[in-house]
Amino acid sequence: MARPMLAAVVVLFLAVVAGQALPGCTSTEPAAETTEAGERALVLVSIDGYRWDYLDRAGVEQPTLRFLAEGVRAERLVPVFPTKTFPNHYSLVTGLHPSQHGIVANTMRDPERLVDGEPARFSLSDREAITDGRWWGGEPIWVTAQRQGLTAATVFWPGSEAEIAGVRPTHWLPYDGDLAYADRVDQALEWLDEGSDLVTLYFEAVDTAGHRHGPDADETNAAIEQVDAALARLVDGLRQRGRLETTDLVVVSDHGMAAVSPDRVVLLDDALDLDAVDVDWGEPVGVWPEEGQDPAALAEAISALPHLTAYPKADVPERLHYSDNARIPPVVVLAEEGWTASSRAYVERYPDRPSGGTHGYDNRDASMHGVFLARGPSFRSGHTTGPIQTVDVYGIVAEALGLDAAPNEGDAEAAARVLR
Ligand code: AMP
Ligand code: ZN
Ligand code: ZN
Repeated sequence: MARPMLAAVVVLFLAVVAGQALPGCTSTEPAAETTEAGERALVLVSIDGYRWDYLDRAGVEQPTLRFLAEGVRAERLVPVFPTKTFPNHYSLVTGLHPSQHGIVANTMRDPERLVDGEPARFSLSDREAITDGRWWGGEPIWVTAQRQGLTAATVFWPGSEAEIAGVRPTHWLPYDGDLAYADRVDQALEWLDEGSDLVTLYFEAVDTAGHRHGPDADETNAAIEQVDAALARLVDGLRQRGRLETTDLVVVSDHGMAAVSPDRVVLLDDALDLDAVDVDWGEPVGVWPEEGQDPAALAEAISALPHLTAYPKADVPERLHYSDNARIPPVVVLAEEGWTASSRAYVERYPDRPSGGTHGYDNRDASMHGVFLARGPSFRSGHTTGPIQTVDVYGIVAEALGLDAAPNEGDAEAAARVLR
């Protein structure tokens, strides 16, 4: 072969190899190839209920989270309202507020779709609902990735079990809270080995302990240590593969946690006849009036109670982005941080409740804020930045992966604050 020709072939070969090393340039046939050390990938980790200030807790061993914070650390991650698991996880991966992506609560009803004459129902323990793409709007990051030729894998994420816009992650699993954390990490590593460009991981222990025992309990600190140990296994696994320096690790949480108490309960019976309305209990409370009842009058009566503010849905403050969806209840009741709206019948039956912690409150409350940490080749190093909004994360991850983001409600400048 003549020399110039050989040189051209070598240059072409190098260009192809280099192209494959860049996530935005790979055109991965699903599960067709195994990954070489040096190939770029991104792992998005959610630690459910990890409050923004947990990272600085004295006496809690979390060396791996602190190692990851040496990349980029946002002062806090400001969740979307309601500060609940499903709405926030789905905002993280779509860049949309719940009113736009449709997951407006963990438990909801859709008056625009009737099943046997009743509104269709959604709850996070209902597998038929969570696997039904009709509930899930927008374009989650795994769909964006796969449409643009990358391979995505989810070791749990709300929405990952449904076909959304005709697409499921190449690799996914039915949610199983009993799956050991080491097994979740090993599954993620296996899918990275098989050529996945984007992998999600999810850990619920910090949220579970926060609910049962409260944000300040030893059990919650132990759960933080348990998740940190799982992340250590991930980091070690990447290091062993020679892939730690080429993998972006992004750690987020969906919301924080506030302590609750049976001493901080307000009874809705004191404002309205609970037999004459349908109530979605929880944080926030949703009220569905009967025919002919005026939502504005109900909201006014509830707001007259201490520690509660209720809005007819059209009047929910704009900063909460919680008006524009049929699945949002006609009356939305916000309790002050740490307070619980309940009923006389419930507190008589369960006088010791609520105890421990909860979330779902106004996203302005600091106790509801989460974390954003990122370390890897795409991210700045030794960089702290101000608050990041949950709806910004989709655009950041898309840009780190070299993807064209779908239309979203995140701040277009957010990626520049954290990426190299
Ligand atoms: P929350 O009620 O907002 O605290 O929700 C946290 C709970 O959501 C976890 O403890 C899990 O039981 C549940 N959960 C989290 N992810 C999933 C998922 N992908 N599928 C079903 N349930 C989930
Ligand atoms: Zn959660
Ligand atoms: Zn929770």
